Amino acid sequence: MSDLRELYQEVILDHGKNPRNFGTIPHAGLQKEGFNPLCGDKITLYVEEDGGLIKDLRFEGCGCAISMASGSLMTESLKGKTLQYAEEIFHLFHQCIIGCVMTEIEKEKLGKLTVLSGVSAFPLRVKCATLAWHTLKALLQNDLRPVTTE
Ligand code: ZN
Repeated sequence: MSDLRELYQEVILDHGKNPRNFGTIPHAGLQKEGFNPLCGDKITLYVEEDGGLIKDLRFEGCGCAISMASGSLMTESLKGKTLQYAEEIFHLFHQCIIGCVMTEIEKEKLGKLTVLSGVSAFPLRVKCATLAWHTLKALLQNDLRPVTTE
């Protein structure tokens, strides 16, 4: 189990240091900023959506390793997927991150995203890990209010 924990940490550190899909999408149809005042994490999310499909998904910003790793893992897992799939994964990810018991099938669906499950023991970190997701949700729901984890 401790080996697994170390591996999880490695994945988080790797994605935190070298976030995937980091940058902007020029002329992105959709963009949204999110802010986690408790930790100081800030992200801007860019989405190119077409007919219910997330064609491209990128983010930029600055913050702790957890928030950057979460944005990186999220963009990696949702790029090329449908909005419906994104919603399903968001729901599962949220369950995972607040410490709900997951079935094997659910874990399999989440794939690499389960590396963030360790934050469930740290409520403040949960906000770091969900910032990118809340930002995506607000963006897709066309919610114009500023996204903040408070
Ligand atoms: Zn943070």
